[in-house]
This record gives sequence, structure tokens and C-alpha cells, in this order.
Amino acid sequence: MTTLTVNNDLEAQTLEWIATQQQVMQQDLWTLAEINSGSYNVAGVNKVADTLAQWSKKLDCELEFIDMPPQDVVDDLGQLNQKPLGRALRLFKRPQAPTQVFLCAHMDTVFPIDHPFQKITYLEDDVINGPGVADLKGGIVVMFKALEAFERSPLQDQLGWEILFNPDEEIGSPSSSKLFPAIAKRHHLGLIYEPSFADGNLAGARKGSGNFSVVTRGKAAHAGREHHLGRNAIRAMADFTRALDDLNGQQQGVTINPGFVQGGGAVNIVPDTCTMRFNIRIESSDQQAWCEAQINTILADINSRDSLTIELHGGFGRQPKQLSPANQQLCELVQSCGKSLGLSLEFLPTGGCCDGNNLAAAGLPNIDTLGVQGGKIHSQDEYMHLSSLTTRSQLSALILLRLAQADDLAWLQRDGMHRTSMEQAKC
Ligand SMILES: [Zn+2]
Repeated sequence: MTTLTVNNDLEAQTLEWIATQQQVMQQDLWTLAEINSGSYNVAGVNKVADTLAQWSKKLDCELEFIDMPPQDVVDDLGQLNQKPLGRALRLFKRPQAPTQVFLCAHMDTVFPIDHPFQKITYLEDDVINGPGVADLKGGIVVMFKALEAFERSPLQDQLGWEILFNPDEEIGSPSSSKLFPAIAKRHHLGLIYEPSFADGNLAGARKGSGNFSVVTRGKAAHAGREHHLGRNAIRAMADFTRALDDLNGQQQGVTINPGFVQGGGAVNIVPDTCTMRFNIRIESSDQQAWCEAQINTILADINSRDSLTIELHGGFGRQPKQLSPANQQLCELVQSCGKSLGLSLEFLPTGGCCDGNNLAAAGLPNIDTLGVQGGKIHSQDEYMHLSSLTTRSQLSALILLRLAQADDLAWLQRDGMHRTSMEQAKC
């Protein structure tokens, strides 16, 4: 094992205790990862929540299940539907303590209920392949163990915490992200348990992202006898898509990806409906405004055509995450904890998004890749390093211990933070 350079006996004892927990963590990971819990598998996601509620007894904390409103979805035929989501689970302890830490992890995976990838297999002694083992069930195990270790320490009274296990991150947190502004107000910082990069480094700045659906409607007509009476919804969508895609390359850092299209039916009928979905990535809120203005211009052009309409659904669910000075300091704290464990951690920018974007947008400095070390997430080749269960739990435990021991956390005091007793009462 790497030589530790910790500050005191308490830190050393805590890290040693975590090192004895590797087998227990592996069992917990198997339990969680083999629960089939794609975002729209409500029963599966709720089963994860029930399992975590059981585990929470070890932390001797308060518990609350939160019903999530359904997600509005435009289906492939252009109809607006509502899809039910699982419940969120909130755990919290000592909301009156001087330092307040928010922890977040999602319970859903990208693998639908009927996906064949539902079991864990070994790739090497230390490497397993399985659904959500890295993203993010390994991170849940890490978070629990770090808190369990912290709760064994005599520093408890210095630090209170709140966990949100959300059911909908993999579809952009459409419902749970509405909880973040209130959460951000009652905490000093956020710790999120997405996996680190495959090389062990952590994510710093993140691009923002928007998901959109667009539907064109025209007029059906017989393709031979009355073609002139038809209004072709596919042609209108083609024009929209081309104009949209032409926006690529006009602003540094903005990418637009038309990713799905469906419309029409029999080829002897002028098609009256077409649906298309696209994703946009941006680096700043100015770029969001620029994209919205450009898209509105293209929409207005299509809508001005005779008997053709186009409607847009969706929006920028993830704001860009730019590292504030407080967030930079938090990164430095995490780096110094990593150094004590023999880990040299770098923060790298990424085009990917997660709840760290939404928390940063709500003003909460956060580190969002404190989960396990793994890779090829969102694919059947997803893998993680089992030994990172121990090292990453030690990293998080050390972060909590150092926050609790810190003399001065003034750098984390934020304008937006106001934890009045009223708010404490209803949190
Ligand atoms: Zn994830």
C-alpha cells in the first residue's frame, strides 16, 4: 500500500479502517449493480432507493422519500407524453452543524429494463464489467463508506450532511434538478459521485448541454393524384436540420448534433408529420443565448410557409460549469487530500455534463467525479477497478475530516447561502 502522509492519528485510523472494508464494499456493489434500474424502470429505481434506505440505518440519519413529477417527452410520432419517474431519496444528519456538505449520486442507469447487460463479470483480478458499476453504483458504495468512516470519528459535531439519491440523472435530471436551487442554499459545498476519468483524474470545467425535440406538421395527400395539395413535413424538417447543422463551426466550443429523425410512412402519401431530436453543447451562457436566437430565426422561416408548422420542445437542462474561485479552492483541497493518499489528481475540462453543472449554476462549489475509477460508461463494456472502492472512499473520508478540522472555511462562505432556522426546519 502507498505510504500515507496524513495529518494525525485520527486520519490514519480512519483510512486504515476503510482498508478493512474492501470485501464488504464489493458485496454492496454487486447488490446494487445487479438491480436492473434504467431511468424509466420505475420499479427498479425504487428498489435501489429501498435498498439505500435500508443501508442508511448504519448512518443513523433522517430519511425522506420524494415523489418526482413525470417527465414530459415528445414521442417519435410527435405527441407530447408524460413518463413516470422513480422516487428520490434524501438522507440528512445534523443540519445545524457549522459546516454543511451536500452529497449526490444517481440511482438510474442508461440500460433499459430489457437490455441484456444486467450482470457483473470479472475482466481481470481487479477489474469488473457490469451495468452501472462505474456510473454510478460504485460511487454510491464509496459515498456510504466515507460517511460511515466519518461518523466513527469524534469530529461529527463539526459537520452535517445531506444526500440526494436522484432517479433521473441519466436522462438529464429533468425533475430532480428542480430540487437543486434550494439544496444549494443550505450547504457550503457539494460532492458528487460520478466516476473519475479512466486514468483516475477528475473533471473540472464542464460544457453545458441542451436536448431538444422538434416536430414539423404539414398536410397529407395522395402522392400521385393530389401531390400539389400536400405539404411535406419531411422536407420542412430537412430544411430545418440543414440550417441547424450549418451553425456548427460558427462559435468556438458550440457543437450541435441532430441525432434522431422519424417521419412519414407509405411512399405514396405526402408525409404530414416528422420528428427530429438534437443535442447542443455550449461553453457559456452567451453561447446559449446565441443558439436560441439562431434557432428562433430558423423556426420562424419554416413557420412562415403555407400550411406547415414547426414546434420546438426541450431546452438547456445543463448550464456550463465554470470553476468559481471557491470551486478552485475546493479542487485544491481535494488535490491535497489525494496527495496524502499518494494520488496525483488533476482537474481536466470535459464536454460531458452531470448534476455538477446544475449545482454550479445554483451557486454551489462542487467536485463531481468522486466516485470509482472506471471507463467505457454508457456501454456494455463499462468497467471499474475494484481497488478504487477503497482508495476513493479514503479520499472522500479525508475530505470530510479536513473540512471538519478546518479553522477557516471563509473561502466557502457564499453570498447566496443563508441557512436561517426557518429553512433548517423545513429542509
Ligand atoms: Zn452518471
